[in-house]
Amino acid sequence: MSALIESLRKLQAIDGELYRLRNELKLKPLILEEARQRVAEQQAKAQASDARLKTVQLQHKEKEIELSTKESNTKKLQAQLFQVKTNKEYSAMQQEIERSKADASLLEEDILKVIDVIERAKQEYQQQQAVVAKQQDALKIEEARVSKDLEILKADIAALEDKRKALVPAVAPQTLNTYERILANRDGLAMVPLIENSCGGCHMVQPPQVVNEALIQDKLVMCGSCSRILYADEVADAGAL
Ligand SMILES: [Zn+2]
Repeated sequence: MSALIESLRKLQAIDGELYRLRNELKLKPLILEEARQRVAEQQAKAQASDARLKTVQLQHKEKEIELSTKESNTKKLQAQLFQVKTNKEYSAMQQEIERSKADASLLEEDILKVIDVIERAKQEYQQQQAVVAKQQDALKIEEARVSKDLEILKADIAALEDKRKALVPAVAPQTLNTYERILANRDGLAMVPLIENSCGGCHMVQPPQVVNEALIQDKLVMCGSCSRILYADEVADAGAL
């Protein structure tokens, strides 16, 4: 039985590493997904800024048209000023000219404000575009790095799988089956040492009978709580004997 425990422990060392590497293989592309998500969010922000910029640019155009309409209206009124016959008409027209000029002056102030808003919107858009470009560069580097890491991971996994294949024939099929079932249910950890009479997996204190059986090693001994296979680490437990 001791030889079997030894084989299972060797298998566990490989399977534990395989579990860790296969997990990494699954998680690494997810990190990339998050980075891609961040780029997409930043791109959306830049697009929103661009839309705001276009809106204020349109407002600017409209106000310029309005201003030139007011200005030509003022000119038209000024030309008409010489054709009026009475003083009353003259002063009424002068008042109208003043109103038109005042309207134009307000519009000019508005336009200056809109130009200011445009400048700020442009800056904001450019800053966001710069962030997008920077994130895209970083993403490319990250993608290259992850793809290289994945290649290494796959090679490491293949090498461990080969090692595993060489170990498997030493374990009886039924025992292997039990071991593999626990391995799958217990996050890649099926074989655990007894540590001061407690399970090395779930830390549950084991009854004396289980501890003795684990020391004798003439059959597979499971933890009553997590079902992992227990083994007595001879060096660590030498004092207990
Ligand atoms: Zn346990």
